[in-house]
Amino acid sequence: MKVFNTVTELQRELKSLDKTIGFVPTMGAIHDGHLSLIKHAKKHAEVVVASIFVNPTQFNSKEDYDKYPRTIAVDSSKFAETDLDYLFIPSEGEIYPKKYDKEYDFQGLDEVMEGKYRPGHFKGVANVVFRLFEIVKPNYAFFGEKDYQQLLIIKKMVEQEKLDIEIISCPIIRENSGLAMSSRNLHLSEKARFEAAQIYKTLELVKQNYFFKSITELENMVKSEIAKQADWELEYFQIARNKDLQLTTDEEKSVSSRAFIVVRVENIRLIDNIVLN
Ligand code: AMP
Repeated sequence: MKVFNTVTELQRELKSLDKTIGFVPTMGAIHDGHLSLIKHAKKHAEVVVASIFVNPTQFNSKEDYDKYPRTIAVDSSKFAETDLDYLFIPSEGEIYPKKYDKEYDFQGLDEVMEGKYRPGHFKGVANVVFRLFEIVKPNYAFFGEKDYQQLLIIKKMVEQEKLDIEIISCPIIRENSGLAMSSRNLHLSEKARFEAAQIYKTLELVKQNYFFKSITELENMVKSEIAKQADWELEYFQIARNKDLQLTTDEEKSVSSRAFIVVRVENIRLIDNIVLN
């Protein structure tokens, strides 16, 4: 695995290859969820590039940005144990020699869930991914379904920019307990991390009952499950259509849908979702 810190050096190397490129952008604090994306990428492309960049423009608060885990040395050694060919760890100056703040028309995708609770977040995500694509020029890029809304946003950006890049979605990797792996789990106390497995158990309960209860009943069930945990805050729970994230109604339960949830545990936002049908 070769590590690059500058755009010029990375591009010089990639240009000389004449091979298909798979790309996995990350913000670091690498876990098995990230590593699974590398495995998927290896199956599709001749060489794989991953990046680590904690993007300031997608955070809503300076505090959240400052607090985001940064574990570059450990991350590099985790990547080095995989089949990853190139690791790109740029500075902010390399990514933003100028402002990248284009407004995209996400056609409502950015108005629900994460978009509603984190204003400006998806504009930051779309712009940094566009910038990374401009640098790496991949044939394929890999994103986790854990951030399902982000995946749809990126597909929209690629469509609007008319980029010739195939976006490939990869399933959610979980801890043995069922808790979705996340860099933010590092902030949880051991006790909270153990208890947080309840989030996925609640989603599984929704799935089991999906065709037997109304949407309102399912929502109430989730509220009471989450309320059992003292100090947890349910930021949102919603059942929405895969294709456009509009709310699924009782009449259209056969339309491909997922249940989406965000719970604050020890004030850490934990995000998860489950396929329902
Ligand atoms: P992040 O470093 O959190 O920005 O995530 C980088 C990529 O890894 C994104 O495409 C995420 O959706 C994906 N990812 C994060 N956690 C998981 C997980 N538990 N399973 C699968 N993909 C994940």
